[in-house]
Amino acid sequence: MSKGNIGVTSDNIFPVIKKFLYSDHEIFLRELISNAVDATQKLKTLASVGEAKGDLGDLRVRVTIDKVKKTLTVSDHGIGMTADEVDRYINQIAFSGAEEFVNKYKDKTEAIIGHFGLGFYSAFMVSDKVEIFSQSYLPDAKAVHWSCAGDPEYNMEDTIKADRGTDIVLHINDEFTQYLEDATIESLLKKYCKFLPVEIAFGKKREWKDGKEVELDEENIINNVNPAWTRKPADLKEEDYKSFYHELYPTQFDEPLFHIHLNVDYPFHLTGILYFPRIKNNLDIHRNKIQLYCNQVFVTDEVENIVPEYLTLLHGVIDSPDIPLNVSRSYLQSDNNVKKISAHITKKVADKLAEMYKADRDDFCKKWDDIKLFIQYGMLSDEKFYERAIGFALFKNLDGEYFTLDDYKAKVRDAQTDKDGNLIILYAQDPDASYTYIERAKAKGYDVLLMNGELDVHAMSQLEQKNEKLRFVRVDSDIIENIIRKEDAAKDNYSDEQKEGIRKAFEALLPKADKLNYYVSFEAAAADALPVFLTQNEFMRRMKEMSAHQQGMSFYGQMPDQYNLVINTSHPLIQDLFAKLTESQEQPTAEGDPTTEGGPTGEADPTAKAVTKFTLSENDERIKQLIDLALLASGKLSGEPLAKFVNRSVELLS
Ligand code: ADP
Repeated sequence: MSKGNIGVTSDNIFPVIKKFLYSDHEIFLRELISNAVDATQKLKTLASVGEAKGDLGDLRVRVTIDKVKKTLTVSDHGIGMTADEVDRYINQIAFSGAEEFVNKYKDKTEAIIGHFGLGFYSAFMVSDKVEIFSQSYLPDAKAVHWSCAGDPEYNMEDTIKADRGTDIVLHINDEFTQYLEDATIESLLKKYCKFLPVEIAFGKKREWKDGKEVELDEENIINNVNPAWTRKPADLKEEDYKSFYHELYPTQFDEPLFHIHLNVDYPFHLTGILYFPRIKNNLDIHRNKIQLYCNQVFVTDEVENIVPEYLTLLHGVIDSPDIPLNVSRSYLQSDNNVKKISAHITKKVADKLAEMYKADRDDFCKKWDDIKLFIQYGMLSDEKFYERAIGFALFKNLDGEYFTLDDYKAKVRDAQTDKDGNLIILYAQDPDASYTYIERAKAKGYDVLLMNGELDVHAMSQLEQKNEKLRFVRVDSDIIENIIRKEDAAKDNYSDEQKEGIRKAFEALLPKADKLNYYVSFEAAAADALPVFLTQNEFMRRMKEMSAHQQGMSFYGQMPDQYNLVINTSHPLIQDLFAKLTESQEQPTAEGDPTTEGGPTGEADPTAKAVTKFTLSENDERIKQLIDLALLASGKLSGEPLAKFVNRSVELLS
C-alpha cells in the first residue's frame, strides 16, 4: 500500500475541476467511457501487431449502478494499467498517456479518443470518492487498486482482479443522486455514446409483453458501432443514408431531400454526412442540429463557430479529431483548422448542388422551393458560396418556370430594358393582391417573378449590387409604364390649381389609420388603366421589409407605411371629375396672420392678388367608391370598409 500526493500543479486542482473546468457536470460520463473505449481500442491495436497475445474475449464496456452503495461503475476489458502506469497517468495528471501512446503507435492506432484533457478527473465533479481497479494486459502484472477522496491524497495498493481491464467506481456525491437513476444514465449514454466504436452495455434489454415491460436476458446495447459516416460511400445505399438520418433524429418523420457524404484526409481529417432537410417553417429550422463528433464521441450540437452559420440549417454529423474541443468558442473561430474545415464544407456543399443541377435539372427545380432559403442564406453570408451558387440559384416566375439569373436575363432582356438601359425584373410577393398589376404587365409582354421567400428582398438587393443596370421592381410599385419607362412620361393639361381641388376632395375621404399614410398624386397613365390606383415606393418598402429581419435597421421599421394614391388623369371618369370643378376667385384675407391682434378682421388686403380656387362639386360617394376600388385592386380592402363598399355599390346600382 502506498500513499502520496497527486503530482500536479497545486492543492487547488479539485475545486477548480469541480467548479470551473466543466460547467456541464454530465460530461464526466463521456470522459470515462471515452477512456474505456480508448483502452479497448489500444488493446485491439496491440493485438494486431502481436503485442497482446491470445483471445481478446468480451470487449464490451459496461456501465452499472449500485443504488445501495451509491456507486456508478464504468468497466472495460481493455489494456488496463499497472501500478506504475496508474502512478504515471493518473497521479501525475499533467502527463497524458494517450499522447505517449499515439506517438509510439502513430500509424497503427485505431481512433484514440484521448484528447479531452483532464478527462478522468472530471469524475470528481460528481463524486466524493473515486476508485480504480485495474488489471493490465501485460503478463505477470499485478492488479492495482487506487482510491482518492477528492483531495490531493491518494491510496494505492495491490489487489486481485479476475479479468483484464479497468473498473472505475464513482461514489456519487449526495448532490448528484440523479446519476444513480437508470433513466438519467441511459439518456446520457444515448446522447454521448450513440455511435462509439466499441459496444456499450447498460442493463438488460426490455420488451413489452402482455401489457407490461419485462427484462430480457440480453444486454441492452446503447450504440451503433458502425455509423454510416464511418463507412465508405460505395458501400451505402440510399436507404442506408435515410435510415441513418432517422437514427440520428428519432423524432424526425420527414425524409431528408438529399445528402452529402464528407470524407477528407488532407490537410485535416474529417468525415461526416450532411442532410438537406425540408424546411417548412421557421420553427423547424433549428430543431435538429448538426452533431459534432470526435472519433465517434458526441461533443456538441452547437456547431455555430465550426461551420458557417448558414450551414447550421442542415442536419447530420461531422466527425473530426482535428477540431480543438476544449478551448473557448471565440478561439475556435480563429483556429486555422476550423477555418479550413469550414471552407472545405462550403466547397463540398456547393459542388454537390452544382452537380445535382447539372445532372438532373428538372429534379433540382422540384427541390428548389425547399432548399432556396438555405442557398440564399449562404449566398448572402458567404462571398465564396455566392460565386459558386449563382450558377444554380433559381428564380421562379408566376407560371412556375425556373431560371438561373443568366437565363432569366436573356429571356427578358429585349422586352424589359428601359430607355436608360436598365434591365427591370418585375416581381410579385402576393400575386393575388397584385393581380391587376400583373395582368397589365403581362399584357405588355413582360414576365413576373414570384419573390415571396423570407430572404428574397435581401437576395434582390445583393443581386442589384453585383449586377450593374439590373433592378428588381415589385410589379405594383407603380404603373407599369413608369416601372419600365420606354419613353418620357405623358403629360396632362390640367393646372396645379385644378389638381389641388381634386386632391383636397380625395384627401378628405382617404382612410386614416396609425402608421399608414396615403399621398395623392397625378399621372397621365393609359386611358384603359384604372382611374385611381395605389403604388408604393420600392426602396422604402424594401427597407422596411429588411428591417424586420435585421438589427440596427429599426429606423425603417418604425416608419409608417406609405402609399401613393395615383389619380389617372387620362381616365374618362377622372376627366369627368375635372370637368365638375367649379372655379372661384378668392381674395386672400388677413386670416391667420400672426401680426394681427385680436384675430381675423375679415378685411381684404387690397394689395394681394385674387387667387383662383377650384372646388369639386361632386358628391362624396363617387370619390369614396374610386378610393375603395383602388384599395380593392391592391388587396387592401377588408373588414368594415369592405362591407361599406359593397353596400354603397349596391345602392349606386339601384
Ligand atoms: P487523457 O484520456 O486525455 O489522456 P485522462 O485523465 O482521461 O486523460 O486519462 C489519463 C490516462 O490514464 C489515459 O491517457 C490512459 O493512459 C489512462 N487511463 C484512463 N482510463 C483508463 C482505462 N479505463 N484503461 C486504461 N487506461 C486508462
